Amino acid sequence: MFVSTILTTRSGLVVWFTGLSGAGKTTLVRALATLLQEAGYPVEQLDGDVVREHLSKGLGFSREDRDTNIRRIGFVANLLAKHGVIVLVSAISPYRETRAEVLAAAPRKLEVFVEAPLDVLIQRDVKGLYAKALRGEIAQFTGISDPYEPPLHPDVHLRTDLMSLPECLDHLLAALERLDIVVKVSHQ
Ligand code: ADP
Repeated sequence: MFVSTILTTRSGLVVWFTGLSGAGKTTLVRALATLLQEAGYPVEQLDGDVVREHLSKGLGFSREDRDTNIRRIGFVANLLAKHGVIVLVSAISPYRETRAEVLAAAPRKLEVFVEAPLDVLIQRDVKGLYAKALRGEIAQFTGISDPYEPPLHPDVHLRTDLMSLPECLDHLLAALERLDIVVKVSHQ
């Protein structure tokens, strides 16, 4: 009885944040993870850049290598989600078909499109990468010299140039509540 209560109220899912570099994926994942952890939910973060330093060390930025990286992240995310974890993935994940493939295997999923116009991202240039890419010092840079395929029907669409971080978090929490995954988590 006790176990079944936990399973029904705490079933896992994969929340997949996709978007260009600097759009706000990592910032949102960290903030959402903190809120959910403070409310007692089991949460794990999988960041594309971090995974590239471990599980995907040595992979490059060809379509094949990018897809391999995303499939590895998807595999781990889905395993965790099956065990009740809320898995927050932040990865550029530029290819629509590959995102659809890994999310199709998730027990439950939310696809979150994190977006800001390219000129805003170039102005933010959080990691200094856009300046380098525009000077031609980084090849295959998504949005500049490599493709990005935006989701056609994301579950949540966040324009981070138009919405504040707290507003974005409200949209994410509302989406989790609609799925009956999270109940009454709020922030100031
Ligand atoms: P990504 O993980 O997509 O590469 P980051 O989260 O590292 O992007 O960087 C996003 C930058 O945009 C941060 O400097 C963050 O403070 C800023 N930002 C401004 N508005 C927002 C917002 N509404 N949501 C998330 N990030 C925002």
